[in-house]
This record gives sequence, C-alpha cells and structure tokens, in this order.
Amino acid sequence: MKYECHGHIILDAKSYKASMERHKNGVNTAFVRNQLKICAEHKISFYRDGGDKYNVSAAAKTIAAEFGIDYRTPVFIIHRKGYYGSMFGRAYENMKEYLGLIREAKRLGADFIKLAVSGIMDFASEGKVTGQAISYPELKQVVYIANEEGFSVMAHANGAENIKNALCAGVSSIEHGFWPDKETAELFSQTQTAWVPTRSTVRNLIGTGLFDDGVLMNILEKQKEHLLSAKKLGAKIAAGSDCGAVNVLQGEGTDDEYGELSELGIDPGEGNKFISETFKRR
Ligand SMILES: [Zn+2]
Repeated sequence: MKYECHGHIILDAKSYKASMERHKNGVNTAFVRNQLKICAEHKISFYRDGGDKYNVSAAAKTIAAEFGIDYRTPVFIIHRKGYYGSMFGRAYENMKEYLGLIREAKRLGADFIKLAVSGIMDFASEGKVTGQAISYPELKQVVYIANEEGFSVMAHANGAENIKNALCAGVSSIEHGFWPDKETAELFSQTQTAWVPTRSTVRNLIGTGLFDDGVLMNILEKQKEHLLSAKKLGAKIAAGSDCGAVNVLQGEGTDDEYGELSELGIDPGEGNKFISETFKRR
C-alpha cells in the first residue's frame, strides 16, 4: 500500500493549459477514472489531492472507492487575491470572503482546507520565492477560522520565513517547503506539523531544459540538508509527489517520491499515517 499525500488528479503531467481545457465545461470523468486506475495499478490506496478550480478532485472523491482508493480533497485552493494560487483556486480579499470560501468548500465536499501561503521558487535567483506571502497575523486568523469550522489546513509554503510563519500559525502540513533554514527544521519537530517535501516536482524537471539544472540541483540540496536535520529531530515527513505537475506522472510520480525519500534514508510511514489521521474524510 502506498500513500500519495499531495497530488492533482486534474493535471496530466504535460500541459496545465490542456489539463484545464479538458474539464472546463464539466468534469471529464473518463479521464479521472483512467487516472485513478493508474494510481490503483501503482498500489496507491490513499490519495490527498491538492485541489483544482473545476471541482475535478471533488468528483474524483466520489469515484475513487471503485478503485479501492481512500480519497481526500480540499476541492479548491484558497489564496489571497493577487497572490499565488489562482491556477487552482479561489481568492479572498477580506475575512468575510475567506469565511465564505470555507463554507463553499464545505458545501462542495471538502475534507480539509488548502491554503496558498506563498509563491513558488524563483528559479532564476537563489533563495527567492515568487510574489507576496500572507502575513503572520493574517495566517493566524485564517488558520484559526478553518480550525473553528472543523478543518485541518494543508499549507503551500516556500521560503524560510513563510514556512515558519505557517508552522507557528498552526497549519497541519507544509507542502513543498523549499528554501528552508535551520530554525525551520527545529520548528517542524516542535509543532509536530507534517512536511511533504514534494522533491519529485524539482527532480523531474532536471534534464528537461525548462530550467537551469544547476539551480534545480541546488534547490534540492538546500532542502535535503534541513530535511535530514528535521528528520533527526523527530519531524514527520510524508510522501507526496505533487503528481500531475510537469513530468510527475500519476502513479509513477508517487514511486519517484518514495525513491527520493528512501535515497535520503527517510521512512515516510509515520508522516503518511499522520496525514491520513489528521486530514480526515468528511
Ligand atoms: Zn500541488
């Protein structure tokens, strides 16, 4: 049995545009069934989706049992207007709108809340993250509201400050967590928040010519250093490949991520269990 703690069933690992086109006039259930079949062939029996804007993961949740998969979804990503997240989600500008989105996610069958805290890695300059990030006071508020509504929070965060802010605000998992620092590793062990490092998203870009391979290797090296110290301090690390992202195939991507972690001597067992118990099915 394998866990995929971070995937996007909507994506085909080739083209974001084609992936959106496929479902924009309604969920293409034949495509979703095929994706789930591939996952089942790869012995995946737990799949936590990272969300999408066309309710494809919500549909997958209703189909997945046919394939023996325990499927969890946030339905869509919640992000601050103008910040990263519009590719997969819905935006809020104030707390009233935010609460509205939480209730909408609940109505559509969400199991938890997915929040975009920061942007992604800026592949052109070391340590930098694209766009703006939600401030610490606001993070505390949005996590509190999600928890009050009965949801755990899965947080997309990159950059040491952003990761630390999300950890201190009480999210239950950090997705990606690239460009961490020493303190980040310590905080992971203190807060008992799971780290889903999604190394395959970066590893599988190497050699594609899309980005400088040296930069990609450097991103992985920096994460590796602090991932290993977090592990040593007792942090929970889970296996999530971000499958569906460019060159991270459904099924194969999950195997890739298990391979990445095993190469580092990390057993994701405890982290995976924590994710399945914390991000409860509703
Ligand atoms: Zn993702």
